Amino acid sequence: MVLREIFDGRVQMVIGGQTEGDHALKGHLTPQRRPAHNLGRVLALINRLKVNCVVPEPLFTHQIVNPNSDHFNHASIGPRELENHYLLLQPIRPADGCLLVAGGLGAGICNADCPVGILFSPQTGRGCLLHLGLRCLLELNGSPNIIERAIELMGERASRLAFWAGLGIGACCYGYPPGSEMLELVRRQYPGALLLDRRVSKGPRAAVQPAFVAVDLGALILDINVKLGGFDQLQLDSGCSACKQDASGSRTFFSHTYGDSPQRNGVMVRIL
Ligand SMILES: [Zn+2]
Repeated sequence: MVLREIFDGRVQMVIGGQTEGDHALKGHLTPQRRPAHNLGRVLALINRLKVNCVVPEPLFTHQIVNPNSDHFNHASIGPRELENHYLLLQPIRPADGCLLVAGGLGAGICNADCPVGILFSPQTGRGCLLHLGLRCLLELNGSPNIIERAIELMGERASRLAFWAGLGIGACCYGYPPGSEMLELVRRQYPGALLLDRRVSKGPRAAVQPAFVAVDLGALILDINVKLGGFDQLQLDSGCSACKQDASGSRTFFSHTYGDSPQRNGVMVRIL
């Protein structure tokens, strides 16, 4: 889909879920300088999604990187031979994000349940694809959350950026056991995201005792928006990627919570 509303049509995104098969592909989502060997499969995916995307030329044929998320908010500059093209937000592999510093480049994330974020600067044309798992969003060991870190690396401030986040698990399916360390971290850092009176109501985590306390990652991201003084443009896709179903009643996306590990959805972004 072309995210026209907040990115002024300058960011393209393709999402591949269960229908397109497992996109934890070793080919087109691994670092490479030549066209993906399975380009045909990528294009077939794009064609199937034609209704939702505009692809004026073959997408992602030259530079694709899979940040290979590690669920931490570490960030730094990536492989030297690629530094003119993109920066990986990581100290060592794996990484949790990819900063695209030139037009015509693509980045991909393999996700299942964790939200994905896109930061874009209309002024510089730089964009950033981010893995927004809970650990990435927490401030751990004195380092900022990954959104703040990415903005810092972009040399920007939130008020000059457009930010989209989505394709993540909803509070209906996501939470932690009462008293767990993760809940305590969320309570301290993002009290708005912790729905103390609400329990996970759907999926495998709804079936355990004691009932899991629901965590709202979208609300957490809104807390970050406030903390950063507000993005110029912000759009949150509030749908739950874990339990979303298509017309046939099948779940649309792969989900760890629903036991689809190790399959992934492919989320590919390109800055025009
Ligand atoms: Zn759900």
